[in-house]
Amino acid sequence: MDALVSLSKRRGFIFQSSEIYGGTGSCWDYGPLGVELKQNIKRVWWRDYIQRRPDMMGLDASILMHPTVWKASGHVDNFTDPMVDCLECRRRFRADKIDETPWVHHCPATKGNKFTIPAGEPCSHCGVTRTPVEEDASLTYLRPETAQGIFVNFDNVLQSMRRKLPFGIGQIGKAFRNEITPGNFIFRTREFEQMEIEFFVNPLETVEGRPADEYWHERWIEDSMAWFRRYGLGEENLRLREHEADELAHYAKRTADIEYRFPIGWSELMGIANRTDFDLKQHAKFSGKALTYYDEERKEHVVPYVIEPSAGVDRALLAFLADAYREEEVRGEKRVVLRFHPELAPLKVAVLPLLKKREDIVRTAHAIRDELSKDWSVVYDDTAAIGRLYRRQDEVGTPYCVTVDVQTVGDQAKGEVGDGKVTIRDRNSMEQIRVPLEALGSVFRELLGGAAWASVAGRFERKGDG
Ligand code: ATP
Repeated sequence: MDALVSLSKRRGFIFQSSEIYGGTGSCWDYGPLGVELKQNIKRVWWRDYIQRRPDMMGLDASILMHPTVWKASGHVDNFTDPMVDCLECRRRFRADKIDETPWVHHCPATKGNKFTIPAGEPCSHCGVTRTPVEEDASLTYLRPETAQGIFVNFDNVLQSMRRKLPFGIGQIGKAFRNEITPGNFIFRTREFEQMEIEFFVNPLETVEGRPADEYWHERWIEDSMAWFRRYGLGEENLRLREHEADELAHYAKRTADIEYRFPIGWSELMGIANRTDFDLKQHAKFSGKALTYYDEERKEHVVPYVIEPSAGVDRALLAFLADAYREEEVRGEKRVVLRFHPELAPLKVAVLPLLKKREDIVRTAHAIRDELSKDWSVVYDDTAAIGRLYRRQDEVGTPYCVTVDVQTVGDQAKGEVGDGKVTIRDRNSMEQIRVPLEALGSVFRELLGGAAWASVAGRFERKGDG
C-alpha cells in the first residue's frame, strides 16, 4: 500500500486533500493522472452498462433530497443504531450487541495504533451526513448512497421511457458516510463515489425455471465479476462472498459481495443485493404515491423486485491500481510499471523526440501529438533522455510510446531524406516496431481498441527492445 500511496503522489494520481494545511483526515484529491483514470473507469462502466445494454438507462439525481427519503429508506432510524467495524476480523457488529466483545480499532489519525473504544461511546456507522444546508428549518442530508435517487424516480423513468420489466437504471455519483473507521488510503473515506444500478424485475415471472429476481441476481453477479476481470483484475485476486443470514441487511433476500485481495487483505469491492420490493414499498408508504408496474399479461399491478449491483468508483480505482502495479527487473535495473488495461490507462500514448535540439524532429513530434490527441489522451515529453522517458511512462501505465528520430526526418545537411517512420514501443513487452507516420492512426485504433500487440507488431519491421 505504501508503494501505491507514494507513487500516486509522486506521479500525480492522488494527493492528500488540503495538504498545504496539514491535510484533512481521509480525504483525497485526484491529480491530473488520477482524474483521467477515474474518468476512464466511469466511462467504460457507463458505456458497458448504460449505453450498450438495451435494458438499461441512466440517471443523475441530486445529492440533497427530501429529508423523508431517509426516513423511508431506514437510514435515519439506523442512525441511532450505530455499528462498528472490527479491523482485525473485518466483521461488522451492532455496537449495542458487543458490550462484552473486546473491539480493537486502528486510530484514523495515528494509523497503526490500536485502542479500544469505550463501550457506550460508539460512533454511528453508515449514518447519513447532516449538511449545514437547512431549508425551511428542515434538516437536509448528504446522501449515503446514490440508490435512493433511483427509487424515488422509478415512476418518472417508467412513465417517460415506457419500459417493460425487466429494466435497470444506473447512476454514478458522490455519496457521504459518517464512517467510524475511515482509512486505508482511498479504500474507505467519508466522501466517495458510487456506480450503482437498480435492476427492476417482475416478481411474478420466472426465467429458466427460477423466480425472476433470483435469476437476475445470479446474472448480475456473473456480469460484475466478468467486468472486473475484463479490465484487468486478476482471477486469483477476486472472490465472491455470500452474506450470512445474520449479516444480511433487513431488506435483503440475498447479498453477495465481490471481494478483492487489496494490499490490506481480502475486502469488499462491490455488493450485489436482492433488495426485494422493500424500497419501492417504503417510498410508496411514505410519499403516498403508488410505485407499481402494470403487468399487462396478468392484468395486475405489481411492485417490482430490485437487484442492486453497487460498486465504489474509488475502491475500484484502488483495485485496478493495485493489480496493475509491478516491480520488475530489466537488464539489471528495477522497473516500476503499471500494467493498466489500455482503456483505463490515464495516458494512451506518449510522443517523445529523440533529439530535442533538432527542430524538425520536435516539430514532427508535436504534429503527431496534435493529431493523436484528437482521439486519445496523449502527451509530449522531451525533458529527459529516452531511457528515462520510457521508465516514466511505464510508471504511469502509458501503454505505448512513439519516438521520432533522425531516421524519421532525415538529415538535410547531409542531403539524407527520412524514411517517414516512427518507433512505437509497447509498455508490457518493451518491444519496438517501425511504423509509417500515415499508419499511426489506424495502428493505434487497433491497439487501443483491444488488438493484441503481437498481432499488430508482426506486420511491421522490428527494432530492439526499448
Ligand atoms: P463496507 O462494508 O466496506 O463499508 P458497505 O457494505 O457499507 O461497504 P455498500 O453500502 O454495499 O458498502 O456500498 C457499495 C459500495 O460502495 C461498496 O462495495 C464500496 O465499493 C463502496 N463504498 C461504500 N462505502 C465506502 C466508503 N466509505 N469509501 C469508499 N467506498 C465505499
